[in-house]
Amino acid sequence: MYQKILIRYGELTLKGDNKKDFIQQLKKNLAMYIQKDDIKVEYDRAFIKYSPENFEALKYIFGISSYSPVFEVKNNLEDIEEVVKNIIKEKTFNSFAIDARRHNKNFHMSSSELNMHFGGVVLKNTENKTVNLKSPDLKIYIEIRDYSAYIFIDYVYGLGGMPVFSSSKTLHLISGGIDSPVAAHLLQKRGLEVVFLNFITPPHTDKLTTDKIDRIINQITKYQGQATLYQINYTKIMNYIGLVSNQKYKITLMRRSFYRIANKIANKFNIKAISNGENLAQVASQTLESIYTISEVCDLPIFRPLLSFDKNETIKIAEKIDTMEISIQRACETCELFAPKNPVTKPNREEARRLEEELNLLDQLEDEVINEMQIKKYTI
Ligand code: ATP
Ligand code: MG
Repeated sequence: MYQKILIRYGELTLKGDNKKDFIQQLKKNLAMYIQKDDIKVEYDRAFIKYSPENFEALKYIFGISSYSPVFEVKNNLEDIEEVVKNIIKEKTFNSFAIDARRHNKNFHMSSSELNMHFGGVVLKNTENKTVNLKSPDLKIYIEIRDYSAYIFIDYVYGLGGMPVFSSSKTLHLISGGIDSPVAAHLLQKRGLEVVFLNFITPPHTDKLTTDKIDRIINQITKYQGQATLYQINYTKIMNYIGLVSNQKYKITLMRRSFYRIANKIANKFNIKAISNGENLAQVASQTLESIYTISEVCDLPIFRPLLSFDKNETIKIAEKIDTMEISIQRACETCELFAPKNPVTKPNREEARRLEEELNLLDQLEDEVINEMQIKKYTI
């Protein structure tokens, strides 16, 4: 039975204070999933108590490059040998290799001496086994550290990236579609706390729509531990924009209004960026002209992590993070309901501004819906 799980950090190039902050944040994040007393964090490794639940939790934590369930013994050859003998008794293999590392430089044998020694132990206690350093059936890793030695055979890849909450916050426009949940995941990977913003238009959107958003955010929250959603009832503004004289611009005007609202909310809560699941050229409305015309209403940077993705690349990630099956369920989406027959694909700023002058109550209505917005909290 394993005693611990050895965790290796991501972003190994980090130095000095950046590295210290990284480790402290990772420790806090681990504590959202794992009992505090079961976590020990060192300069280059973390150790947590082994349990199937703790092992499972590591799948969701950014900032970990890889991890291994380990046997922990005292730093002496006899105890290590005992574990190695147990491993070779249980495993079926023809070829093997030993990969020993001496982190504790005071230990009386070097890494290559350890490899020789334990290679000999395996050969002595088995029959017809061969050493194969390139692609062995069984690789036994031994790490000699200051107080203990760790022996393990599995290397599991972690999510990599930076620990969430280590790089401030982004206000993320989330829909029930495939793209925006994947974009949220990629922003979390860079250490951002993702705060969600969603627009609904009841009664056109119903409980199916809000349930779907809840399920998607619950799933993404697994990677963040906790999250907040600002949900805006947008119906009255959608109806108001519907009165505009140039119907082709309805979607453009709605998007500009989304981003004006996002910008106001972000400033109110001291959030320094806005983000979305937009792509370039995937659908007719996602043109550079459209992005250009819409983004002038924001003074904050807008992150679009999926800008250059092919759809199948996005789908692969959606499947990996288990949002795909939720996203493909039918529910009424705000934009689909509202789309005119021939929306403008290359809108320009001047026409958008002119039409907004027609809609002179827009600013006031936007403040109203912000004041009425619902705030929902999610935890794991
Ligand atoms: P998605 O799969 O994320 O819905 P999409 O390919 O369907 O994206 P659009 O519907 O054009 O593209 O939406 C582009 C982006 O606008 C979305 O990724 C999302 O960030 C934002 N967005 C769309 N609808 C909403 C909404 N109802 N509430 C909040 N944000 C939205
Ligand atoms: Mg969509």
